[in-house]
Amino acid sequence: MCRFVPFAERDAHSMAKLKQFSREYKEKDTVINIGDITIGAKSKVIIAGPCAIESREQLLAAARIVMQGGADIFRGGAFKPRTSPYDFQGLNEKGLEYLAEVRDVTGMKVITEVIETTAVHVVEQYVDILQVGSRNMQNFPLLKAVGRSTKPVVLKRGMAATLDEWLLAAEYILYEGNQQVILCERGIRTFERYTRYTMDLSSIPVLKKLSHLPVIVDPSHATGQHELVSPMAMAALVSGADGLMLEVHPNPSEALCDGPQSLDSAEYIPLMYQLKKLEKFLHEVNSKKCYEETVVATISN
Ligand code: PEP
Ligand code: MN
Repeated sequence: MCRFVPFAERDAHSMAKLKQFSREYKEKDTVINIGDITIGAKSKVIIAGPCAIESREQLLAAARIVMQGGADIFRGGAFKPRTSPYDFQGLNEKGLEYLAEVRDVTGMKVITEVIETTAVHVVEQYVDILQVGSRNMQNFPLLKAVGRSTKPVVLKRGMAATLDEWLLAAEYILYEGNQQVILCERGIRTFERYTRYTMDLSSIPVLKKLSHLPVIVDPSHATGQHELVSPMAMAALVSGADGLMLEVHPNPSEALCDGPQSLDSAEYIPLMYQLKKLEKFLHEVNSKKCYEETVVATISN
């Protein structure tokens, strides 16, 4: 006989089973190695690049700026999941070819979003990391398909997803055998309309407590405004994020997608410099030595 179980109880029941994303399942932080880049270890990883791949020239210009700032991974969308069907949808496979060219020319690792299950096989041949976007966080066939890939996956938070739903989406990928999952906070929909979304900063320490998976933050999509990217990028690192995803464009006013939130070189290069300094500072303040000094100073006062 079927007993009615309230939603809250059902949720508690389903979360109680041991999940692969959980700290109970795996205590130590997951560290993902992509060549000489590590994600989830001590150093912060920076992913940067344009929202969309618009042309070969635009992509190479963006790559030059991103390289100069010292980011680790280059991003660019070839398949764009746009709200309106009349907006630029991406260059598709041609875009993947340009992205692969950037990888060959610069030596940077590359990431792009995959929006269709049937495209996973093609996309994974061109890139080092697959991205599942906010709009597809609960596209379960797609999650299963990237779960069968050998490439790491950045799983962005659904814009209306709770942390439990997001972690269970990650579980789909882990369950299929792909242990290389990176969670990306990109803002959630709230009643506030000043910013594009609301960046959920507290999700970072909560995820760190619940899960061993690396957590990165995308302040570009979270805020929708280029001038808010720098403060929120810094806040994310201070809150314990393992890295950032930043939209950078050689000429944001002419971008075919997400220009208002894209950094130009004059904003991006100084930000990268500040982030490196902040990273050093965080190593220091989070160190055992600093903690012990603080305790001694507090007691002796
Ligand atoms: C993106 O990173 O290109 C993107 C579309 O972001 P999101 O899925 O977070 O909206
Ligand atoms: Mn974008």
